[in-house]
Amino acid sequence: MISRPKHIEDTKGLLGQLPTIDAPVPDFLYLATDNARCKGAEIYVKEGDRVLMGQKIGLRRAAFFEQPIHATCSGIYLGKEKHYHRSGKLVDFLKIQNDHLDEWDPSLKERSDEEIAKLSKEDIIEILKECASVGLGGSSFPTYIKMQGKQPIHTILINGIECEPYISADHRLMLEDPESIIGGIRILQQAFSCKDARICVKSKYSDLRQVYGAFLKRPEAEGISLCPVGNFYPQGWEIAMIKSATGIEVPSGHLPGEFGIANFNVSTVSGIYQAVKYNRSVVERLVSVTGDGIAYPSNFRVRVGTPLEYLLQACGGFVKEEVPKVLILGGPMMGASIPSSDCIVTKTVTSCIVLNAEEVKEEPCIRCGSCVLSCPTGLEPQQIMLAVKANDKDRIKALNPLRCIECGLCTYVCTSKIRVTDFVRRAKILAKL
Ligand code: SF4
Ligand code: SF4
Repeated sequence: MISRPKHIEDTKGLLGQLPTIDAPVPDFLYLATDNARCKGAEIYVKEGDRVLMGQKIGLRRAAFFEQPIHATCSGIYLGKEKHYHRSGKLVDFLKIQNDHLDEWDPSLKERSDEEIAKLSKEDIIEILKECASVGLGGSSFPTYIKMQGKQPIHTILINGIECEPYISADHRLMLEDPESIIGGIRILQQAFSCKDARICVKSKYSDLRQVYGAFLKRPEAEGISLCPVGNFYPQGWEIAMIKSATGIEVPSGHLPGEFGIANFNVSTVSGIYQAVKYNRSVVERLVSVTGDGIAYPSNFRVRVGTPLEYLLQACGGFVKEEVPKVLILGGPMMGASIPSSDCIVTKTVTSCIVLNAEEVKEEPCIRCGSCVLSCPTGLEPQQIMLAVKANDKDRIKALNPLRCIECGLCTYVCTSKIRVTDFVRRAKILAKL
């Protein structure tokens, strides 16, 4: 376990004030062959081969795109092993024995600022494709595809809102590494020929205003501003953020690009900088490990491929061992619970919440309407639940559950402790049949 000055209460406010800790890098790292969109991969190395950090060692294939797999340490490739992926599925991972030398692939050359200034949008897209840049806020959507839109962009929004309770890794990244964020934004400004870039953060964070107030006065930050938005959940949902930051309402079924907006998570922007400046894929990221079930909640800088168990041990393990635990990857509202702690930190894991499992007794629906009033997309979750229970597919489709963003609010506010969001998730599947 890592030594700390004192026990940290599990509140986002306090955890967000503590510096990020470098998590120890384990002797074995694991890289997924599958992810939410790619099923299987072509592997370029064979068992016993030495690999270098950042080296392209495989290629995942999805229906409409490919995604390189890069080694996140130097060492020996030992073959495949099954572990849980953040999607909750047991998949193959490539196992690398870390030699702890961190020897980078020498073919990955740093670009000078002059070289970067000459890159076209197409060049940048190609670099991001090769570096397997994806949405690091949890979406894992390939950045190069997101950037291929042809619509002119007038505003770039950087999402640093991180509105879910408990997690604060993006907040720490913004405080600790503004250079990489500003560097990434400048690359986006260049790619989209768009000066207006706004970093959206919760208005309550005076520490961010302090850091960026000074930083954004520099000449290289021309056009970049800090944009304080609301302190509520789900303010980080892209549609809510766009409305708060620009006044533009993006209707359901439309993309922000159609309205001249490009939006990226703050960690993704930092990853874009690593890719374009250093030609490197993301080999480490910030991860919050927190919740009432863990001894010492912490924000870690974690090597991609680290077993989650390793981080849980670095946090001092579980408290109240006798109480069963719920493990959630992502935030407590939109994240997904995983069946086992035998899970690997991929580059899209933002956080792990460890909760002491409470026995919750569900009561019948009392038609209080709280779920309807709280739904940010204007759905009727209670009606959707009834339609799912009745297996009435026409009614399900009429209630339009596909607009649900799975924010979890309908479950959170339910007076009768019903897991309403689970019914809406089922409705989304049934609506597509
Ligand atoms: S999870 Fe519930 S509250 Fe959130 S968008 Fe879906 S239906 Fe609405
Ligand atoms: S919040 Fe719960 S109890 Fe109230 S209407 Fe919705 S499902 Fe029923």
